[in-house]
Amino acid sequence: MLSLLLILTACSSNADIHETRFIMGTLVEFTIAGSEQSRSDLAISEAAAEMQRIEDAFTIYGDVKNAVKAFNASPAGMPMELPVEVARLLTTSLLVQQQSHGAFHPALGTLNLLWGFSGQPTPSHHPSDSAIIQAIPSRLCIRHADNNTWLRINNRCRLDFGAIAKGYAIDRGMDILKKHGIRNAIINAGGDIRLIGSHSGQAWRIGLRHPRNKGQVLGTLALSGDISIVTSGDYERYFIQDGKRYHHILDPQNGWPATASQSATVIADRAALADAWSTALFVQGAAGLNDLQKKGYAAMAVDQAGKMHFNKAMQSIFLPAGKTQQ
Ligand code: AMP
Ligand code: MG
Repeated sequence: MLSLLLILTACSSNADIHETRFIMGTLVEFTIAGSEQSRSDLAISEAAAEMQRIEDAFTIYGDVKNAVKAFNASPAGMPMELPVEVARLLTTSLLVQQQSHGAFHPALGTLNLLWGFSGQPTPSHHPSDSAIIQAIPSRLCIRHADNNTWLRINNRCRLDFGAIAKGYAIDRGMDILKKHGIRNAIINAGGDIRLIGSHSGQAWRIGLRHPRNKGQVLGTLALSGDISIVTSGDYERYFIQDGKRYHHILDPQNGWPATASQSATVIADRAALADAWSTALFVQGAAGLNDLQKKGYAAMAVDQAGKMHFNKAMQSIFLPAGKTQQ
């Protein structure tokens, strides 16, 4: 559960600074290379606080009060003003929904609450057919009224930023590390990663988790610069009922866990986009790879049979497990 992508330790040196915090329901690992301890400590503390703030601002669970929950409780059809930050992430989410032909849906909160995957404990039984049908959101669910004012079309439409907020938090965390002058770092939030710079002059090596064999990797990627890599997988939150796996990534068309993939990985400049698109690609399966190629995002999907599918951009950088770099 903890590390969905593994940062390979082989390339770590003693000079690296590692810190782990529990944020957004997962262990967030900060790795900083080539920077003094005091500067790194301060940067990590501030980044972690900002990531916690974002979790509190976007979650629709727990006791914390926020504008997203208030919006979800607002009367359907009545415009309500959203904070600029929420409106901005909503706009990005709606664009991904449109461009993924509905595979990504930012307002399936009612459906997600029904399944219960985001609460504790993990559910053990699927909801009834009729309950699912009644919770499926229509494609057009949230409407922009004007400026920062938005409205819900009906009561099935409840914002759920679960598939993008973690990536956004990582982006904000990395902005803060950069502001403190950090040049080489990784933020890894349970497999959702943004990295900058390099490690002792060499690319960071990132392992992609095997969706079925815990502790094994499918392959590795050597990445440097300023880039994000995010994986969505059916092994993150799931239960087995009558021999069948039910997991937390839902197909907005039919309301059931999406069946095209075991995992999907997307590389993009910003972690929010890699996060949203990895969820979308998971739902679309290999059929979504080409569109991502056109957007310039490297991507791969592991289908239900465990077969890996790559777009060209990913094919050219993916090093399968067992092979060594030339
Ligand atoms: P991720 O782990 O990033 O793939 O996000 C999964 C989380 O996003 C779930 O726990 C839900 O909160 C939400 N979610 C599930 N299915 C979808 C979907 N098709 N589109 C957008 N958000 C989703
Ligand atoms: Mg996601």
